[in-house]
Amino acid sequence: MKSHYKAVVIGGGVVGCSVLYHLARAGWTDIVLIERSELTSGSSWHAAGGFHTLNGDPNVAKLQAYTVQLYKELEEVSGQSCSLHLTGGVMLADSPERMDFLRLAHAKGRYLGMDTELITPSEAKAMFPLMDESHFVGAMWDPVEGHLDPSGTTIAYSKAAKKLGAEIVLRNPVKELTQEPDGTWNVVTEQGVAKCEHVVNCGGLWAREIGRMVGVELPVLAMEHMYLLTEPMPEVEAFNKETGREMIGVLDFKGEIYTRQERNGILLGTYEKACKPWSPVNTPWDFGHELLAPDLDRIAPSLEIGFKHFPGIANAGIKQVINGPFTFAPDGNPLVGPVQGLTNFWVACGVMAGFSQGGGVGLALSNWMVNGDPGFDVWGMDVARWGEWASLRYTNAKVRENYSRRFSIRFPNEELPAARPAQTTPLYDTMVGQNAVMGDSWGLETPLWFAPKGTEPKDIVSFHRSNDFEHIGNEVRKTRESVGVTEIANFAKYEVSGTGSEDFLNRLMTNKMPKKGRIVLTPMLNELGRLIGDFTIAKTGDEKFMIWGSSAAQKYHMRWFEKHLPKDGSVRIHRFDQTLVGLSIAGPNSQKLLQKLVDVDVSSKAFRFMDFREMAVGGAPCLVNRITYTGDLGYEIWMQPAYQRLVYRAIKEAGEEFGIVDFGMRALLSMRLEKNFPTWFRELRPIYGPFEGAMDRFIKMEKNDFVGREAAAKEQQDGPKLRRVSLVVDAADADVMGDEPIWAKVNGKDFGTVGKTHDFGAPRFDKSGKEVRGSSAATGASAVRGLHDGEWSVVGWVTSGGYAHYVGKSMAQGYVPAELADDESAGLFEIEILGHRRKARINIEPPFDPAGEKMRG
Ligand SMILES: Cc1cc2nc3c(=O)[nH]c(=O)nc-3n(C[C@H](O)[C@H](O)[C@H](O)COP(=O)(O)OP(=O)(O)OC[C@H]3O[C@@H](n4cnc5c(N)ncnc54)[C@H](O)[C@@H]3O)c2cc1C
Repeated sequence: MKSHYKAVVIGGGVVGCSVLYHLARAGWTDIVLIERSELTSGSSWHAAGGFHTLNGDPNVAKLQAYTVQLYKELEEVSGQSCSLHLTGGVMLADSPERMDFLRLAHAKGRYLGMDTELITPSEAKAMFPLMDESHFVGAMWDPVEGHLDPSGTTIAYSKAAKKLGAEIVLRNPVKELTQEPDGTWNVVTEQGVAKCEHVVNCGGLWAREIGRMVGVELPVLAMEHMYLLTEPMPEVEAFNKETGREMIGVLDFKGEIYTRQERNGILLGTYEKACKPWSPVNTPWDFGHELLAPDLDRIAPSLEIGFKHFPGIANAGIKQVINGPFTFAPDGNPLVGPVQGLTNFWVACGVMAGFSQGGGVGLALSNWMVNGDPGFDVWGMDVARWGEWASLRYTNAKVRENYSRRFSIRFPNEELPAARPAQTTPLYDTMVGQNAVMGDSWGLETPLWFAPKGTEPKDIVSFHRSNDFEHIGNEVRKTRESVGVTEIANFAKYEVSGTGSEDFLNRLMTNKMPKKGRIVLTPMLNELGRLIGDFTIAKTGDEKFMIWGSSAAQKYHMRWFEKHLPKDGSVRIHRFDQTLVGLSIAGPNSQKLLQKLVDVDVSSKAFRFMDFREMAVGGAPCLVNRITYTGDLGYEIWMQPAYQRLVYRAIKEAGEEFGIVDFGMRALLSMRLEKNFPTWFRELRPIYGPFEGAMDRFIKMEKNDFVGREAAAKEQQDGPKLRRVSLVVDAADADVMGDEPIWAKVNGKDFGTVGKTHDFGAPRFDKSGKEVRGSSAATGASAVRGLHDGEWSVVGWVTSGGYAHYVGKSMAQGYVPAELADDESAGLFEIEILGHRRKARINIEPPFDPAGEKMRG
């Protein structure tokens, strides 16, 4: 080991080795991987080695597709076989709801360019004769599934990295991490100290402990996981002989089971409900190449269903049961990226599917370290998506919930109960007392909608319109016709102050900063000219600004702000989180209502649209913005938590004469839809440029040289390829949920905006067992089955939507090729909802108050 490196990667599992390889491939060769024992001394060696591309988050799915693509290159570079078996696989649906879930996944796969297909149980049986098809209603076939050798693959990454110049040091535990005032890290190991600029925590089972070395409690927990291997089975051997191919992988949601062929028997694993954390507080450092004691009783309920569903396996002898630990984050996706509050401390951990995700994780992290940007939208696995509330106990409860629900359907209106309530505002009991159905908004309990008195405040979970529909409609109508009040504590709030504050914000934001007492809306871009933020900013003092943004992005944005703070101390930034809470009043009577509560003139002349004032509301000192996300006349009122009940009561009492209504987040989101307003992380994400996102009027090219200006100028000059649009959908009893494909009648024209993720040219089989090497599989999007249908083609995707109650229309927002974005003609678009293609029409002007007269008052 040398005394200095550019970067030190801690941990030689599949993830650490992939990070090392990708860093070396990106040109950083002064790097070392330090492993406490031998390579694969954590969870990597005993993995079942399965891989697939499907993921609830399309951006994570893309990185999984990249991982699968990479194996061929890896074998070539390293000269080491990964023992790749690309068998394809099916997911089996046992109920209509599960079939709806598969329809959604299949539809989403279309715009990602995945070649999935919905098939019958009999078709599935033809590929996997060990099953009894009578238990199932349908299935989805995915040709890009298979399995590999976990140790061989990890070693392939390490060999490839070494060939490119990286170093690997084995049998050398990292004991301590300290940082010099100049930012240099000291990696204290058993074999001495290595100094470096960057440290990467790829500690797998010990990632939590390595985090603690720098004072960070990472939300990651290891769970026990079991799979069994059968004795050789004559049925498997006969199938191989007859068809000349291996059996496919099968996922049975009902049984919480996955299976695949292993040699001439079957491997069968479960995600059992009665799951068990391993080492919930401290991972023992002396745990090595070990397995845990099998506990068949725990997985017996799953096995019972499995043996019923797969009678061919029931009679096979069990050769071995593997029980090993591996780690999960609370939502089951990896934790990747720089840790906010530290410099050059990176993580790539909580990777629960290292052989599906390890390549994508390595690529994203190496891009981020080398180029300052991951190069993709990695929000779904960004370590910044968790706040301080994701404590050890929170993580323990959520990971158990996530593991036990791994094969359960998550409905779009479903709120999961574990570890709640985590954070509450002073109004929590009041809202619950008013029959609010509460939701989790970045760890904060937030009213979603209000159930009528005497009924249970509970969502009936569904892919279709549900029991909240009528009540959200009432909340919207009463607000739009008189006045409503809602909690908005779940926004992010920051204060930027100091002599350099205006210059700092002008450098980061695309819009010009407002005059004192005024508000602007502004996107924020990265150097690549991609959207990384969307804020409301008020100038509150001579050298002081308030910023409001997305609550879920607080750590993500703080990380960016801190990175760009001038070193001279001329700018300070403070994140309020829940030390500042808020209420919004909206609707035509909101001005009259506010006037009753304050002692200053709030007429539209004295307190204009987009004005900011400090004023006492109901006697409490508040910050008030003359703006609302409902797009109506309205206000956002911000106060310290100690005043929230006072202000709320004052609003309710004064609002009585107007018939004031409480409305929840869902009504707010419904109202923003009929105004064509976008949301952060749905419509606006780091994969889109500002002109693609239709944010043109907030991009002030003429002002100073803001971050991303050059790239934005290029996008403007070349013209965006995609464009965000709002559509009115001819929906039946289900509205869009997000990620549905948008079809257009374009006579087969390929705009090059969808697909192209699966072009890895490896041999693969169609569902009849025919090899399709180099045919549709290798030629990209246009050849992907299901992207074209006669004159119709998939041209875009939905980002979000729902029912716009006031205008009485089902609405969607999404991205389509720019050249179609101004075409409002009927009959051009269709959106696929739960397997049915519904007519949709672009709506350029918002259907509610298109001229914006109401909000201007
Ligand atoms: C039974 C089972 C079946 C599985 N099946 C699959 C599957 O089919 N498909 C799939 O994709 N995934 C599967 N997995 C999950 C997969 O194993 C993990 O996703 C993967 O191993 C994570 O790799 P990692 O590199 O993050 O962590 P690990 O493999 O745990 O590697 C971490 C490494 O860091 C080293 N380390 C830790 N602390 C230090 C220190 N202080 N100093 C130096 N070195 C240190 C450790 O010794 C270890 O080698 C399965 C897991 C289990 C247990």
